[in-house]
Formats: sequence, structure tokens, C-alpha cells
Amino acid sequence: MKLSRSLAAFVAASAFAVGVVFAAETAAPKAKPEGNPGKCCVKAESAGKTCDHKCCVEANAAGKNCEKCGGTNPAKKS
Ligand SMILES: [Zn+2]
Ligand SMILES: [Zn+2]
Repeated sequence: MKLSRSLAAFVAASAFAVGVVFAAETAAPKAKPEGNPGKCCVKAESAGKTCDHKCCVEANAAGKNCEKCGGTNPAKKS
């Protein structure tokens, strides 16, 4: 009986692992940061480009919107 128990546990663990992988994959395509980008960035994006302002590039690299150019970021309490 011990064998079937551990087998069931293994199956459950596998299902859980698959669920985690699926969750990670569905969460993965999150290219844009939350909040609103600045006007310059919106303009660049609508032209199929990325804003080349140094401040915006730096902010985007950090996964944020450029606040200097009017972008907003969700307030995070850490
Ligand atoms: Zn910009
Ligand atoms: Zn900027």
C-alpha cells in the first residue's frame, strides 16, 4: 500500500509542477510595466518604436515608466 501512496504523491507533485509551469508561461508575456508611460513614450510606441530618451530607457530597463516624462508607476510598498 505504501507504494501506491507514494505513486499518488508523485502524480500529485507532477500535476502541481505542470500547473506551476503553465502559470509561469501565462504570466511571462508581460512586456509592459504597469502604470502609464509618459507622452513621449506613448508617441514613440504608436510609431512602432521605443522612446529613446535616456531617462525613459533607464526607467524601462528597470521595468518602470519614466516619471520625469509624466509616466506613472503603481505605488509599491516594500
Ligand atoms: Zn519617453
Ligand atoms: Zn523620460
